[in-house]
Amino acid sequence: MLALQKTSPAAGLELVEVPVPEAGAGEVLVRVRATGICGSDLHVDDWTPSYAFIAPSIPVTIGHEFVGVAQNGPLAGRRVVVRPSVTCGVCAACTDGRHDACERRRGIGMTRDGAFAPWVRVPQRNCVPVPDSLSDDMAALTEPLTISMQALRTAGDVAGLRVLVMGPGTIGQGIAALARRAGAAQVVVSGCDDAARFDALRAMGFEALVDVKTQSLADGTRLHTGGAPFDLVFEATGVPETITEALALLRRNGTVVVTGIHARPLALDLTPLVRNQQQLRGSFRPPESDWPLALALMGEMDAVLRPMVSHVLPLARAHEGFALAHGRQASKVLLCPEVGDA
Ligand SMILES: [Zn+2]
Ligand SMILES: [Zn+2]
Repeated sequence: MLALQKTSPAAGLELVEVPVPEAGAGEVLVRVRATGICGSDLHVDDWTPSYAFIAPSIPVTIGHEFVGVAQNGPLAGRRVVVRPSVTCGVCAACTDGRHDACERRRGIGMTRDGAFAPWVRVPQRNCVPVPDSLSDDMAALTEPLTISMQALRTAGDVAGLRVLVMGPGTIGQGIAALARRAGAAQVVVSGCDDAARFDALRAMGFEALVDVKTQSLADGTRLHTGGAPFDLVFEATGVPETITEALALLRRNGTVVVTGIHARPLALDLTPLVRNQQQLRGSFRPPESDWPLALALMGEMDAVLRPMVSHVLPLARAHEGFALAHGRQASKVLLCPEVGDA
């Protein structure tokens, strides 16, 4: 079958022919229908240091945001989304049933084969059934939406707050939609030369957009806030310096929630943060129990979230899809295997 793989510990990805996988004990073979290109896939392509941890797993098929049809097991014949984080099953937390606390994980599409391929084998317990009413395109957004949900949880109650979302990609789009739904008084989204993602945000009903390519973040946000500080900032850029900019626009006792994976460290003057009692919080993987909730939310917010997917391409055109994503010419790109791919 055709598979998009990391084949060497260097920049680049390759479309290669590999054998169709076989499901082992406790595993399900999934016929992939659609897989999203994630920012982390771009990092793996570029081979940025934060993803060097996958080196021992090379060659590996990437792709972790996907929907497909289970071929065996209790969900056979049903569409499923798959939690990409695979718990070890043998540590104290796992044997105790506290899977969210497992510290020895493997990542589907990172350290074990993923879904930029027609077939992928996954642990049965990672499969979550998709409601029939939800399209493949929407279902493929489940994983990033759970990341956005966790960011909202990390932030706490957003009702009545003035919110800045830095980074207009899928995670930022999801955060903006969830913050508005949760009653934020204002949601401003910033990006840098991100026309395609801004188009998606406009279609989602967001008008307060700031392009820091043409103006400073402070100047751009002032147009929308009148200079009032933000109560809450979400960082979803992966650019460390944006944290410094965010803190300058944050009110005393305000919170910055960091969701980006940062390729470089940040030199940060902590004294203003201390004097202003500002909170800096990291947010990453949500509990497993969020997945069915995310699917239900997407059903409810279908019309709002639909513009997030800008391109659907066949898997064979993966390189074109990655070029669109790298070049910021797309919002979310989905790759779909075709019958001829295996
Ligand atoms: Zn992802
Ligand atoms: Zn474990």
